[in-house]
Amino acid sequence: DAIANQIAAGEVVQRPSSALKEMMENSVDAGATEVQVMIKEAGKMLIQVIDNGKGMSLTDARMSFERHATSKIRKSEDLFAIKTFGFRGEALASIAAVAQVEMKTKQSEEELGTLLFVEGSEVKKQEPVVCPDGTSIAVKNLFYNVPARRNFLKSNPVEMKHIVEEFQRVALSYPEIKFSLMQNDMELFRLNPGKLSQRIVGIFGKNYQGKLVACQEDTPHVKIKGYVGKPENAKKSRGEQYFFVNNRYIKSNYLHHAVSNAYEGLIASDQHPFYVLFLEIDPSHIDINVHPTKTEIKFDDERTIYSVVRSGVKQALGAHNV
Ligand code: ADP
Ligand code: MG
Repeated sequence: DAIANQIAAGEVVQRPSSALKEMMENSVDAGATEVQVMIKEAGKMLIQVIDNGKGMSLTDARMSFERHATSKIRKSEDLFAIKTFGFRGEALASIAAVAQVEMKTKQSEEELGTLLFVEGSEVKKQEPVVCPDGTSIAVKNLFYNVPARRNFLKSNPVEMKHIVEEFQRVALSYPEIKFSLMQNDMELFRLNPGKLSQRIVGIFGKNYQGKLVACQEDTPHVKIKGYVGKPENAKKSRGEQYFFVNNRYIKSNYLHHAVSNAYEGLIASDQHPFYVLFLEIDPSHIDINVHPTKTEIKFDDERTIYSVVRSGVKQALGAHNV
């Protein structure tokens, strides 16, 4: 069973950044207005997420480490229909199978919180604890018991890059939540709650201040909102391009092409525009490969979506006379 747990864990937790993503999404699900992330050794030594969300009772806390105990999904359409991220009920169980996890959690109506220490799926410690409302989960020594996986991890700079990317994706989709990221006691990000445009500047820097063009499009098929960068902010490197579908980050070369196409004549052909675009689509028109780490999806009517994205961006650029 321990082995089965470890194998299943590998599906969900491929590297420190995938654990971080699950943990941050849980904090968002828990209604947190502030989420602090602490990283040591690119997440190989520590991934800690502290939130001020609703916390867990002792029973919930124990349950949260049990596989499928909390699964909320019934059919694959639910995946996109549901508002919350939680749909598999196995992220924490998976993480705890391959790490040493210390959780402190408290609900506001309780006097004391719960401290749980779980190592390789085994609860090693459980006691009442004085702690703030919300949840702190510290994941230590990821893959300590799966040497092959541990050795498979990339260098600290590479793993840290993945961590920053996941952090940025979640932070972008919730500008109303305060997020911070510390690495080895150095603060990399402190993002105050605000509007999406402020969040973008907070993440990507002041060079985007005043350089963002609002994009909004409303059709029966798809709603689009977000920002695209002015042509002068286009770069040779890919990377600062974000699509979210129903608030989940996705990768789509097809839609990237739609945006690039809207910039035709405005930027050189070897340059890529900046964009952060949120698409809202009826979940029944989306086809997603139900895999924990998949960020790719298919749309029933992708040509319509392509043309709405293209014309939405084109219109935004034109309206702003850039
Ligand atoms: P899922 O999110 O798919 O339900 P997870 O393994 O990610 O599964 O989390 C299991 C459960 O633990 C969640 O459903 C939630 O009830 C609880 N939980 C996890 N993290 C938090 C948190 N930060 N605050 C409150 N509850 C949490
Ligand atoms: Mg979850």
